[in-house]
Amino acid sequence: MPKTIVIFFGPPGSGKGTQAEMLAKLTGWKKISTGDLFRAEIAAKTKLGILADRYIKQGKLVPGKVTASLVEKSLKQKASGFIFDGFPRNRGQLKELLMIFAKIFKKKDQIYALEVAVSDREVKRRLGQRRLCACGKVYHLAYNPPINNGLCDICGGQLFTRNDDKPKVIAHRLKVYHHDGEPLLDYFKKQGKLIKINGEQAIAKIHKDIMEELSGLKLV
Ligand code: AMP
Repeated sequence: MPKTIVIFFGPPGSGKGTQAEMLAKLTGWKKISTGDLFRAEIAAKTKLGILADRYIKQGKLVPGKVTASLVEKSLKQKASGFIFDGFPRNRGQLKELLMIFAKIFKKKDQIYALEVAVSDREVKRRLGQRRLCACGKVYHLAYNPPINNGLCDICGGQLFTRNDDKPKVIAHRLKVYHHDGEPLLDYFKKQGKLIKINGEQAIAKIHKDIMEELSGLKLV
């Protein structure tokens, strides 16, 4: 069976992390979120985590080689498919991914880009209400609230606001997304490998749209 890689694209706050998680649960594909990998390194206070934290706090990208080596390690896991959330984010990282792909995947394996499209205005409205748990679960106070105020449904942990969800940092992240991320969407569009989904809908409807598109392409 050929393997599939689905790369989620979308501005910060587009809900792509939630959708990637739902898709991973349904398909059994491994989800690779570079943001989560970095947060785990930060929580474990590793050398890499301490370095990454400095960049993440300012809304900047963590340097390329560090990220690529984490990704390559993750792609060597056994799985029928992989879901990317947060990688690649610029041309350099796309190049790295294509090189890793050529090295460890077969010709029939496929890479698709899946864009969860959300306007800048909606992003700014949403992010102020995002809450995270250290276990990786993401909540939104209006759209996807926890059952108990301030506590994680899964592990009971205290929820927190990410440093990079502050307004100034959000504006910078949006600028970076448009400048660096959009050329990647053009690349996949030209390859006929871009799936575009309206991200300004209910979580369940976005998931349904994603499944319909993937099933139409016979990937699920
Ligand atoms: P995310 O959870 O995907 O929004 O990522 C949070 C932060 O982690 C980003 O703002 C970056 O600082 C860092 N990060 C995540 N993915 C990457 C990546 N592919 N390359 C460099 N830095 C990244």
